[in-house]
Amino acid sequence: MSNEYTPTIGLEIHAELHTNSKMWCGCKNDPNAEKPNTNICEVCMAHPGTLPVPNKEAIRKVIKVGLSVGADIADFTEFDRKNYFYPDIPKGYQLSQYKLPIVSNGEIKGIALTRIHLEEDTAKSGHDNDGYTLIDFNRAGVPLMELVTEPVIHNAEDAGNFARELQRILRYVGASEANMEMGQMRVEANISVSKDSKFGTKVEVKNLNSFRSVEEAIKFEIARHIEVLNEGGVIVQETRGWDETKQITFSQRKKENAHDYRYFPDPDLPKLYLSELFDIEELKKELPELPKERREKYKSLSLKDEAVEIILNDMSTADYFEKVIEGKNNDYANLASNYLVADIFGLLKKDSKELISSNFPSIESFRELIDMIVANELSSRGAKDLLPFMLTDKNLDVKKKAEELGLIQKNDIEALKKIVETVAKANETQWNEFKGGNEKLLMFFVGQCMKESKGSGNPQMFQEIIKQF
Ligand code: ADP
Ligand code: ZN
Ligand code: MG
Repeated sequence: MSNEYTPTIGLEIHAELHTNSKMWCGCKNDPNAEKPNTNICEVCMAHPGTLPVPNKEAIRKVIKVGLSVGADIADFTEFDRKNYFYPDIPKGYQLSQYKLPIVSNGEIKGIALTRIHLEEDTAKSGHDNDGYTLIDFNRAGVPLMELVTEPVIHNAEDAGNFARELQRILRYVGASEANMEMGQMRVEANISVSKDSKFGTKVEVKNLNSFRSVEEAIKFEIARHIEVLNEGGVIVQETRGWDETKQITFSQRKKENAHDYRYFPDPDLPKLYLSELFDIEELKKELPELPKERREKYKSLSLKDEAVEIILNDMSTADYFEKVIEGKNNDYANLASNYLVADIFGLLKKDSKELISSNFPSIESFRELIDMIVANELSSRGAKDLLPFMLTDKNLDVKKKAEELGLIQKNDIEALKKIVETVAKANETQWNEFKGGNEKLLMFFVGQCMKESKGSGNPQMFQEIIKQF
């Protein structure tokens, strides 16, 4: 028995699937529609006598997520009723999956998954100023996948990174927009601490609306558990919420037992033989190159880790980047990644523009810019001056603009020599000192020459000329 507590974390993550229609009816899948109760029908309002029809596209998307994480796809699957009462679930049960989920096993970032199943989202309840509860059914029956991990995560950072990677996967395969602020992806964290090989009592934290909250809530819970236990107290199994303002968790309710839901297979829905309904091998081929694969590829170009993560975070950015560096070497890829994630992203952020490829310079003009830098025709200062023009005018003739702005570096020795001559004359005292052996003045003269050439001279060439003058 060790004296240190080991934290254990397991995640349960819900994601609203991106489909045209809802899970069991033809209503539009638009849970955040501005006007409440506009995308509704008898089925998703749970009128008696209505029958659900499964949405094949939603099932396909769950299978694709499963294939992306190296999981097992069930041959046979079914939907179960999870019985409970709440105003936002008028059927008196939620359609979900219990014993036979569509997806089992698999891993993300080395963290083992238990399962991924498909269920329906509930309606949304809100409260008005008069104390009434209002229900919006636009969200009722929206296809929702739930991913459950094994209790194998041991710190907040790994949990946060797991959720970030899942968001990328969901977006890459087009399964979900997975925006956490909009409730399209919702993370619940189960946390326990223990000093031995037995698990401690777990607490579940809900209402985590950002990756940061996921990490902060987990850190807070770990510290709270250790404090309670060190003071001789006990942890009770419960559901807690996260107070974003106070950055603390608070007790919501004692966890109900899983058996209370009285799950049983829904008699209104067909059993599904997935291998007959889908060509799994074909679905595998439809998968895009995934974040994990791109990460390996970019690391082999020796890009900085930070740049790698930024570039692959969005698939359109990754695709753009790959087209820019096509057929080029590692140095070129590094240059391009620096200008993309530092300069282009910086400019877009300043203008509050989205960091998506449709806002980047055209691939041709960005390649031309990097080509000019590589050829020593453009200084990094000059490149930074050009980029804003490239963002506003996608058809910009980059070279012409650079000439117009006098940014083309002069590599012409004779022209550069003339500039050195002018500078030497204008600073005669320092020049004599320099020629007399004061080497510290070299950079002073390079600076003066750059100024004289209005930034268009090549500083390396100036150095050489000044030394030999
Ligand atoms: P429940 O029946 O309470 O829903 P599950 O066994 O279904 O519990 O697990 C739900 C989630 O809690 C999973 O992500 C799992 O990894 C996690 N979990 C289970 N036991 C622990 C524990 N002792 N500490 C942390 N997480 C746990
Ligand atoms: Zn409907
Ligand atoms: Mg559970």
